[in-house]
Amino acid sequence: MTVQNGRELLAIPGPTTVPDEVLSAMHRPAVDLYSGEIISVTMSCISDLKKIIRTRSEPFLYAANGHGAWEAALVNCLSRGDRVLALQSGMFGGAWAEMAEVLGLDVEVLTAAPRRAISPDAVSDRLRADREHRIKAVLAVQIDTAAGIVNDVPALRQAVTDAGHPALFMVDTIASLACMPFEMDAWGVDVTVAGSQKGLMTPPGLAFVAAGERARAAHRHADLVTRYWDWSFREGDEHYQKYCGTAPEHLMFGLRRALDMLLEEGLEHVFRRHALLADATRAAVERWAEGGAFGFNVLEPVERSNSVTTLRFDETDPQRVIDFCRERCGVVLGIGIGPELSGRAIRIAHMGHVNAAMTLGVLGAFETALTALGIPHGKSGVAEAATSLGGALAVVPMA
Ligand SMILES: *Cc1c(COP(=O)(O)O)cnc(C)c1O
Repeated sequence: MTVQNGRELLAIPGPTTVPDEVLSAMHRPAVDLYSGEIISVTMSCISDLKKIIRTRSEPFLYAANGHGAWEAALVNCLSRGDRVLALQSGMFGGAWAEMAEVLGLDVEVLTAAPRRAISPDAVSDRLRADREHRIKAVLAVQIDTAAGIVNDVPALRQAVTDAGHPALFMVDTIASLACMPFEMDAWGVDVTVAGSQKGLMTPPGLAFVAAGERARAAHRHADLVTRYWDWSFREGDEHYQKYCGTAPEHLMFGLRRALDMLLEEGLEHVFRRHALLADATRAAVERWAEGGAFGFNVLEPVERSNSVTTLRFDETDPQRVIDFCRERCGVVLGIGIGPELSGRAIRIAHMGHVNAAMTLGVLGAFETALTALGIPHGKSGVAEAATSLGGALAVVPMA
């Protein structure tokens, strides 16, 4: 028996649920790429992305996924043999580092303590030791979606500044932009990397890179630049140069609608919504974890991200829960990824176009799976989630 018919809920940390409004905005014929609407859509998306990235710099648009944005950031600012310091607290910092290595950069990885965020002190110690300033860039990730960890970006930036080090500070916000606060200019971020398919509620396939003054200065003598990624070429006079070719028109139409939705809701509200749904999820997990079969991957509560919660399993095979939720309940959960968590984790996303019904529905299916599969767990995790959310939304003072 299954109870899976009905709309499937996608609770993986990207791609996330695409709103119907965004899908409808994409359902239309292609248009001329040299004139008319695509030009105004491009320009208005650039202008609104600046509001979301919180910068005066115009972001570059790529028909690419997040990996493309990583590559664009590296090749535009760096030269063969340059040293970069990649901060690894989960999986994505390491994957960005691997890409840097393939490009011919001299890569050093600074790894966080197990299941912890990057320590700003460790970063400033490492940079202070680099007296000759051989390190040209520091690569940080705001939310690592494998571990479910949030790094303190302003504190990491401060660590670079405290060390008196001139390295460029690059931040991957692919799983955090439009999910939690990020302030490119106010925080002193030199390069911001983002993608369409997570907090921005748009199908996968668009990547964004914003570069501040220092990054643009480095760009002028970077020798890794290739034509497709090249910021200078993309700033040429012809509109098509913004994409180095045909615009990914339908993705831009979708993005236009998604940005409207985010700005209509208001970023502060968007962040608060993510925080409340993450709190509700954590309340459920905390209760379930009393059974001993699994617990939070991230040890420090303040380092648990508001876009995805990663559960680490001991003896129990998490795949049984994932399969049950998908095949019996119509809920798609994220598998564990990376050498440490592959086959040992479940990721519950609460990112992008999500509301209380969706998150509570996902948690309800999860608890149903624990019951049906006889996995030991503290009871009424879903009730804990409802209590958490009800308290946060209380219109009458709680007794
Ligand atoms: C999803 C993700 C990526 C990779 O994005 P792709 O679009 O799959 O290339 C990179 N960094 C972080 C933090 C992510 O969550």
